[in-house]
Amino acid sequence: MPVAGKVLRRARENNGVMVWTIAVLCLLLASSPVRSQESLLSPEERAWLESGPAIRFAPAPNYPPVEFFDETGRYKGITADFVALMEKRLGLTFDIVRLKDWAEVLAKSKAREVDLWGAAANTAERREYMNFSRPYIRLPAVIIVRREVEGNLDLSHMAGKKVVAIRGYATHTYLEENFPDLSLITVPDIETGLRMVSFGSADAIVATNASAIYYIEKNGFTNLRVAGESGFEWHLSFAARNDWPKLIGIIQKGLDAITETEKKAIYRSWISLQAPGWQPSRELLIAGGAGIAILVLATMALWVATLRRQVAARLAELRSELQERTKLEEDLRAALEEVRRSNDDLQQYAYVASHDLQEPLRMVTSYLQLLERNYGHVFDDDAKEYIDFAVDGSIRMSQLIKDLLAYSRVTTKGQPLVPLEARSLAESAAGNLRTGIEESGAIITVGELPAILGDETQLTSLFQNLIGNAVKYRAPDRVPEVSVTAEREGALWRFEVRDNGIGIKPDDLERVFVIFQRLHQRHEYEGTGIGLAVCKKIIERHGGHIWVESTPGDGSAFFFTLPATD
Ligand code: ADP
Repeated sequence: MPVAGKVLRRARENNGVMVWTIAVLCLLLASSPVRSQESLLSPEERAWLESGPAIRFAPAPNYPPVEFFDETGRYKGITADFVALMEKRLGLTFDIVRLKDWAEVLAKSKAREVDLWGAAANTAERREYMNFSRPYIRLPAVIIVRREVEGNLDLSHMAGKKVVAIRGYATHTYLEENFPDLSLITVPDIETGLRMVSFGSADAIVATNASAIYYIEKNGFTNLRVAGESGFEWHLSFAARNDWPKLIGIIQKGLDAITETEKKAIYRSWISLQAPGWQPSRELLIAGGAGIAILVLATMALWVATLRRQVAARLAELRSELQERTKLEEDLRAALEEVRRSNDDLQQYAYVASHDLQEPLRMVTSYLQLLERNYGHVFDDDAKEYIDFAVDGSIRMSQLIKDLLAYSRVTTKGQPLVPLEARSLAESAAGNLRTGIEESGAIITVGELPAILGDETQLTSLFQNLIGNAVKYRAPDRVPEVSVTAEREGALWRFEVRDNGIGIKPDDLERVFVIFQRLHQRHEYEGTGIGLAVCKKIIERHGGHIWVESTPGDGSAFFFTLPATD
């Protein structure tokens, strides 16, 4: 029962009541045999352990992640995990001794003041006072330089460079023996060496990748990088003082009892040795997390600010667009009003001018006619012809003025609409046209027409224009026949003024309602091109619609609608 033995031994040494009590308790607890130890160790080994002194285990104090003491002074690292498992398997406890640095570990070991190491390279020099287990960690040593140094490096090409080695480490001997051209600097630990390289007082350091990463991360030596392999690989072993030959056997058995799965779990829990990847510390993670959070918040704030700016800019744009549009609308309205006013003025002017022209023109016509009648006998034939031309001209001008007046009148506000009998309007229009009708022998038929709401003067003028045209634009070989009828179509009355005249070509059907459009300009079809434009205005003013259907040579039918009164 090695545990019990050890406790008793300690109790003896310390001679304290408390320790004795614990020792008794341990004896009781330890009455069940430690099977693993029994099956692992030979009886001699067990006997040796029980009789022997405490085993003083001296780790490298500063060799993370392999082994080191943390801030609270606890022994940590890959080797520490191996040691914990071994203690369990072997059923013993080592006395962990914390020394200043590896050099002190070596010195104390030579002096037999410590008995066991956990992570040491097996060298001939060390074998003089230590026995080594089989290696259980393999770590390549790499060349670490400042980032500004470019390319991959090889120690054989670094002659004269200040390269740092850790005092007493196997790499130190390796560098001395293999690369005598290097200007070697020795330091007590990796951390110091990394700082020297980082600050520029050395060119490179040769150290394990895993340890370097650990310190680079811990100290924020972000200006360092791995530049190549050193060619040296640590094969780390346990080592026991060689004057206790049994101890290394026991240790090897403890090591062998650790399964592959357990080993992998240990490696994985520390910096990944197989795939040396950088793993951030908790503090770095927190700082990184906070950094990311700040970055996200800052980005969001920036985004919100940008959005706000964009929205404000867009709003300003929209506001100015709106202002522009409002201004444009106002300008348009003003321009429209101006046009309307000018148009009204023009209409007014046309009306006044026509009206004022009529009187002197009538006088001219009358005097010409008087001249011809009273003094015709003194004129020769030529003079009489001139007077006839002048009379014809003034009559045509008088007609033009009359038509223009009619056109202007429709635009200037007409009379209020009153109930009217369409039939009497049509007949009265035909009556006004008597002379022309009689001359041509035209047959005018006015059918049953409805009562309507309208402006009497305007509607009489409408019928007069349509019937007059129907007679005027007669076919040369036919007696003109004109019919005026109406048909109910829903809420409207559709009127029709049909003739058997010369007709209108399909392309001209729309044009006839445009002012001054004359399609037949031969002498026998005299006109001003205003009549149908007047009709259109009149019908529109009454809320109706006017159009024409025609077959050239066969006649035309002018239609217009007026709202029914019932
Ligand atoms: P106009 O004083 O020339 O008769 P209108 O405005 O009354 O003017 O008619 C415009 C043109 O439409 C006429 O010049 C004529 O060519 C054509 N037109 C009008 N009515 C008829 C019709 N019943 N048959 C054939 N053509 C017509």
